[in-house]
Amino acid sequence: MKTIAVLGSTGSIGTQTLDVVRQHGDIRVAALGAGKNIDLLEKQIREFHPVLAAVWDEKKAAELKTRIADTGTKVVSGMEGLVELAVLQETELLVTAIVGMIGIRPTMAALEAGKDIALANKETLVTAGHLIMELAQRRGARILPVDSEPSAIFQCLHGENKGEVSRLLITASGGPFRGWTRDRLQSVRVEDALKHPNWSMGPKITVDSATLVNKGLEVMEARWLFGVRLEQIQVLVQPRSVIHSMVEFRDGAVLAQLGTPDMHLPIQYALYYPRRLYLPGERLDFEKLSEITFERPDTETFRGLPLALKAASAGGTMPTVFNAANERAVDKFLKRKIRFLDIYEIIEKAMDHHKKIEHPNLREILEAEAETYDWIESRW
Ligand code: NDP
Repeated sequence: MKTIAVLGSTGSIGTQTLDVVRQHGDIRVAALGAGKNIDLLEKQIREFHPVLAAVWDEKKAAELKTRIADTGTKVVSGMEGLVELAVLQETELLVTAIVGMIGIRPTMAALEAGKDIALANKETLVTAGHLIMELAQRRGARILPVDSEPSAIFQCLHGENKGEVSRLLITASGGPFRGWTRDRLQSVRVEDALKHPNWSMGPKITVDSATLVNKGLEVMEARWLFGVRLEQIQVLVQPRSVIHSMVEFRDGAVLAQLGTPDMHLPIQYALYYPRRLYLPGERLDFEKLSEITFERPDTETFRGLPLALKAASAGGTMPTVFNAANERAVDKFLKRKIRFLDIYEIIEKAMDHHKKIEHPNLREILEAEAETYDWIESRW
């Protein structure tokens, strides 16, 4: 029986991971981790009986400890707790379903301990990709993508020779504001940004989809996961999210992965790779699918993508600054402290201000993150 730990078990990816586990009944969940939602975490503990539960918030962790005193689950907290969860001896795979670059340290600790990673937490690869990929290789651990686009590429590459890839074609829905002008975006409300046309996801990634920052993060994620150059990655808007991404090979053949928009599929593929198990749910009905259309992304209006590409080309600590500025800006937008378009301005100004460090180590990445947060707080 495979034994896993789920970091971010109370979120969108985390709860869907537990759906997959529930459906098949042959995976043991040895550890669960969350930020502060101890109501849901308690329910999950009573259902899955993990040996360990990690809660970021110390007070909530203490409260949970009292609440579940009748169970055999040990409760830990803070970064130390997340790392303890990541390296738990009995697990062979860590699902990183946590949001943001707070996931870097647990992910690296798990890799160092030789665990495979089912990776949803793209922010870690974006900011520390060079360290994470090197560590995975050195420790012989696998990084299995959970994000739907990298998973689609991973599925297309199964059994193929990676050296024969000419291009990765990452698809994007275009988000809820596709076709909008900058003027119209001035008055976007939080509720509008949280209405994704095809996918139901956590709030941060939903806003990232609306700004196209998410596509930029995926380009950076794909570059590390698949070892290609940035110029080999093209983003295409395909509004109905039927094609999850494609790979073009050097003979001109293009392989695509299609399906209904359901994150259970890439999650299940990562958990059981390379097996394909039955997954209940809607199937594509090609007779009803009258057309699949493609567009170029509007990078003048939705500056998240070009800013990400600029950060990716600069390399070093610049992707960290891009990501940290976006995390802070999205948080402020969700708290209604800034407007939608301010997100771009904050990212751009933070990148302009930053003095890049080439080949940063973990300490330098975390320092660049902290400095970016401080700089933003002093201005917005
Ligand atoms: P959610 O906001 O729905 O969930 C985030 C999870 O992380 C929650 O369990 C939350 O706990 C936990 N968490 C947040 N901060 C901390 C912390 N400091 N310590 C421990 N746990 C913490 O996010 P999503 O599930 O949408 O996204 C998770 C990751 O997956 C992101 O990186 C996202 O980009 C990526 N992703 C998501 C997709 C989706 O469909 N949702 C698709 C592809 C990728 P709590 O509930 O207690 O706050």
